[in-house]
Amino acid sequence: MGVRQLETTLTEAAAPARISGSAALRNELKYGLRFLVRHTLHYERRIRALLAQERWPRERLDSAADGLLLDTLQAAVRRIPRYHSLKAHLSVGNVREALAEHFPIIDRRDLMVRPADHFPYESAPRPWTIVGRTSGTSGSPLQMFRSLESVLWENAIVERHFRWSGYRPGMRRAYLRGDLVVPIDRASPPYWFHNRYNNQLIVSSRHLRDPCVDDIIEALTRFAPFMMEAYPSTAYELALLLEQRNSFLRIPYVFTGSEPLYPHQRQLIETRLATRVMDHYGMAERIAYATECEYGNLHLNTDYSYVEIVDDDGHPTDDEGYIVGTTFHNSVMPLVRYRMSDRTRWRPGSCACGRTYPMIEPVSGKFEDTLFGSQGQRISPSVVTFAFKALRGIKYSQVAQIGEGLWEIRVVPEAGFNEAERDRLIDNVRKLVDPGLRVVVREVDEIARTTAHKYRWIVNESGHDSKSTGEFRPRTEDPKSAVP
Ligand SMILES: [Zn+2]
Repeated sequence: MGVRQLETTLTEAAAPARISGSAALRNELKYGLRFLVRHTLHYERRIRALLAQERWPRERLDSAADGLLLDTLQAAVRRIPRYHSLKAHLSVGNVREALAEHFPIIDRRDLMVRPADHFPYESAPRPWTIVGRTSGTSGSPLQMFRSLESVLWENAIVERHFRWSGYRPGMRRAYLRGDLVVPIDRASPPYWFHNRYNNQLIVSSRHLRDPCVDDIIEALTRFAPFMMEAYPSTAYELALLLEQRNSFLRIPYVFTGSEPLYPHQRQLIETRLATRVMDHYGMAERIAYATECEYGNLHLNTDYSYVEIVDDDGHPTDDEGYIVGTTFHNSVMPLVRYRMSDRTRWRPGSCACGRTYPMIEPVSGKFEDTLFGSQGQRISPSVVTFAFKALRGIKYSQVAQIGEGLWEIRVVPEAGFNEAERDRLIDNVRKLVDPGLRVVVREVDEIARTTAHKYRWIVNESGHDSKSTGEFRPRTEDPKSAVP
């Protein structure tokens, strides 16, 4: 072996160790600090209080929410320039009426166009202010100022959902979201980091690919987590890779969120991970939080925020409408009647789980996640999945609306994909989804992801909404990435 070659070998051997040493230290500090911030003495008490109230009679829940709403409105008048001059008399008895009468509905554009009216501290965070960021996919990030209280409540509310599965502190949990726990170009295991503070195996979702995934499957099998937090797309990717290997994992619960969860994803995840998926709906603005229970119903957490569902004119509706929410627990920057582009409707009745929180239908219709047919009608993603059934050679796919009545289906092909399969796909869309659609199929090497490394199966890139509001609103991302 020549000197040069020996040097190369030594460098190659030393480099990964050096990188992984500093990455491991960084991880220890990051997750250790995070644990200290979250797990204060009050943490467990907070969660127990939240668990105790979820089966209260509805009137008692409502009056607790009225108290929190009053706190928020009073803080808004104090903190937010837009409401400084508001003269309304606010009390627990009239708080919902006062909200509807004196506080107009706002949305992301108000915050972006007139920050001076909507942000405290003249829009410049103080050194001690906790700042959360949303990263709109169209490059319009937005900052949110948060109180420490709001961060602690957020963590407790998220943790409460985990407890619905029977998860208790100290039990093994896995994590498969966006965290970069090992260098992205790492080519030998471990592709994970064991966060001993939470007994949590944090797996690098960047390494969910062929040369690395066998080690990841083995590590997850060995670790045997009781539950796993994941994006729908990362859990689905793992399920696909398991399917390709004709193999299974056993993780009793998978908690998903931050992206839409499509029925075909849920189905494969539940089969391949032998799991029950518990989805949730939330956002960085923290104006609504809904959690799926063991009976598959999505419960709106009324101790998290005050939610209204309104029609295009801003009036309350029992039909499908926009989600409008008012934050609780954040005295630094309360958001009042903030409208999302997400749509849902109230689900009447009560749930067999016994929790009294109101229920909503699965949230859909974010413009960028919505496909429209040849007549401008909304098309359900579940319906689109039918077009893909029984096709061969499609590793990954994405359905994009690129114009009015025009879809582009992007396919990462594998063995078996040919012209005949391509024609069958187009044919299926016309037969099973909408005969009037124009469809092009494009073969690609990979499906582009958003900046937060998230994957969307359905994507609307046509730039305008052909049916409802005619407005383009960037979606927000990853409600949990901003937690310190
Ligand atoms: Zn329920």
